[in-house]
Amino acid sequence: ILLAISDLLCIVVWQGSALEQAIISQRPKLEKLIATTAHEKMPWFHGKIDREDSEQRLLRSSRVNGKFLIRQRENNGRNVSFALCLLHNNQVMHYRIDKDRAGKLSIPDGKKFDTLWQLVEHYSYKPDGLLRVLTETCPRPSHDSVQGATGGILSRIKSYSFPKPGQKKVPVENPYNFRSNLELPKPNITEAMPMDTQVYESPYADPEELRSTTVKRSDLTLEDGELGSGNFGTVLRGVYQMKKTQKIVAVKILKNDDNNTAVKDEMLREASVMQQLDNPYIVRMIGICEAENLMLVMELAELGPLHKFLQKNKHISMKNITELVHQVSMGMKYLEEHNFVHRDLAARNVLLVTQHYAKISDFGLSKALAEEENYYKAKGHGKWPLKWYAPECMNYLKFSSKSDVWSFGVLMWEAFSYGQKPYKGLKGNEVIQMIESGERMSAPADCPAEMYNLMRKCWTYKPDERPGFSVVEPRLRHYYYDISQ
Ligand code: AMP
Repeated sequence: ILLAISDLLCIVVWQGSALEQAIISQRPKLEKLIATTAHEKMPWFHGKIDREDSEQRLLRSSRVNGKFLIRQRENNGRNVSFALCLLHNNQVMHYRIDKDRAGKLSIPDGKKFDTLWQLVEHYSYKPDGLLRVLTETCPRPSHDSVQGATGGILSRIKSYSFPKPGQKKVPVENPYNFRSNLELPKPNITEAMPMDTQVYESPYADPEELRSTTVKRSDLTLEDGELGSGNFGTVLRGVYQMKKTQKIVAVKILKNDDNNTAVKDEMLREASVMQQLDNPYIVRMIGICEAENLMLVMELAELGPLHKFLQKNKHISMKNITELVHQVSMGMKYLEEHNFVHRDLAARNVLLVTQHYAKISDFGLSKALAEEENYYKAKGHGKWPLKWYAPECMNYLKFSSKSDVWSFGVLMWEAFSYGQKPYKGLKGNEVIQMIESGERMSAPADCPAEMYNLMRKCWTYKPDERPGFSVVEPRLRHYYYDISQ
């Protein structure tokens, strides 16, 4: 496992921040994957070979008692099982290793283990029912190519970042590029990790896909059926033909019935903010297309807004919600570090790529801050989402990353209450009064105390005393790691 982790760290150094973020957000799952697939790296794991083959391998060269290998058994059922093949007085003994419903591995009536390498470790010290202890590894003929191996996390990470030359085009059928062309197992869609999707890395991460902010109309195909609609008009699904790949995209189409230049400028402003951002937890802009309408081409987050998804999916666990809000905090930490204020952070503006992958969207109100300033001063009150705004926004028209933290607290409340409306039944001015009097929303039903405490911190009245995302993100991360143990 140490080998696997060091291998992983080398790739991190090599691949930079996208992978670093993947590892921060997905550590519990990665650890589990490494632990359950680490055996593929072990010389004693011979993959899917048959009984006769394993006997020939064990009887070749040294015939030390206790020489062993593990093979994956052919089986028709859904459960994987293995066999421990052990040399004893020139004879090969085969012990079946079964996986129970909880995923634990054991030889019949034997001790249960989480991983094959733990099982090997145990039987190297104690026979514990075997004819003898395991002594010498029977190395597999070619250490690198394991027939029938299940495609561990390392191969997934490597293959993700380094598409092979001549690799087949990924069919345009869904937004989740599971790289089936590499013959790796398809992760279950509900369990897919962000890095398994097509929208984890920038669409321009491949240097051969030259970055251009304009999209040619002839490279864009619009599909029927709306993904949603907002101030500017409708959002449709589309396919964008890039140089090397096709990408499924979301296209925001400006309704230009009255040829309103102000609205057009607003959309172009949003595009220019998005164009400067590149983070896995933020919807990236792919380009602008000026044709029959002005169109903003973006990464697709097919499952739509977080609040609606949670309203319809009450079975989603608190751990899953924590994972999603943690991802939002990672995207917000990136904005904070790059001096952008979002100004409209709310569950409606967090879109889901999968049940385990959230992206921040809607940069219509966002502002890049000047180097020397840490806040943006609005010229006057506008059509504002008051229930998400910090007191200093209303009182002094001041917007900063700290006011985004306040909104993030409201977003957390929405998420942990499965998409309920915050301050239900209250009008904007009643909410302001409530906040000024020191009162805050109470905890959503069944909300973990740690998460409600964090919301309360986000609703600290004075911005100077309120934590930034550099504090909020690690708090969420550590809580998420704790509950993932
Ligand atoms: P907006 O105009 O940004 O508020 O978007 C309106 C609606 O369109 C959202 O609530 C989503 O349902 C949908 N939408 C916007 N952007 C995307 C996207 N990148 N991927 C999928 N759906 C989107």
